[in-house]
Amino acid sequence: MSDCIFCNIINKNSPADILHEDDDFIVVKDIKPTAPVHLLIIPKEHIDSINHIEKKHRELIGDMFLLAKKTAHDYEISEGYKLAFNTGRKGGQLIDHLHLHLMGGWNEEQK
Ligand code: AMP
Ligand code: ZN
Repeated sequence: MSDCIFCNIINKNSPADILHEDDDFIVVKDIKPTAPVHLLIIPKEHIDSINHIEKKHRELIGDMFLLAKKTAHDYEISEGYKLAFNTGRKGGQLIDHLHLHLMGGWNEEQK
């Protein structure tokens, strides 16, 4: 999808700070972080949102969580973090390419 920001990053048509890349995913730093560590786990396959996942995506979605766990470990936030799929405009989704927010790194216990 040529008008998709994340597809353009994946295809190296737009610059981004790619922290990890494998056959199925990239991990990038969120450009407007809302946590001390705010990363995005992005599948290379363009899927609009959680509303668009199908049975064939079960392994991909599972792998997404495993990569989130590994990334939390690598960035030393395993002690506490949040994972979020914003879904639909009313759910705060701005980019219609599935991505998992990984947020952590707070000093204090989150209330
Ligand atoms: P969402 O609101 O769930 O669709 O999240 C989209 C996220 O992507 C926001 O937190 C943005 O700050 C972030 N974002 C937008 N453009 C870029 C970009 N070029 N590189 C990294 N993060 C981005
Ligand atoms: Zn896309």
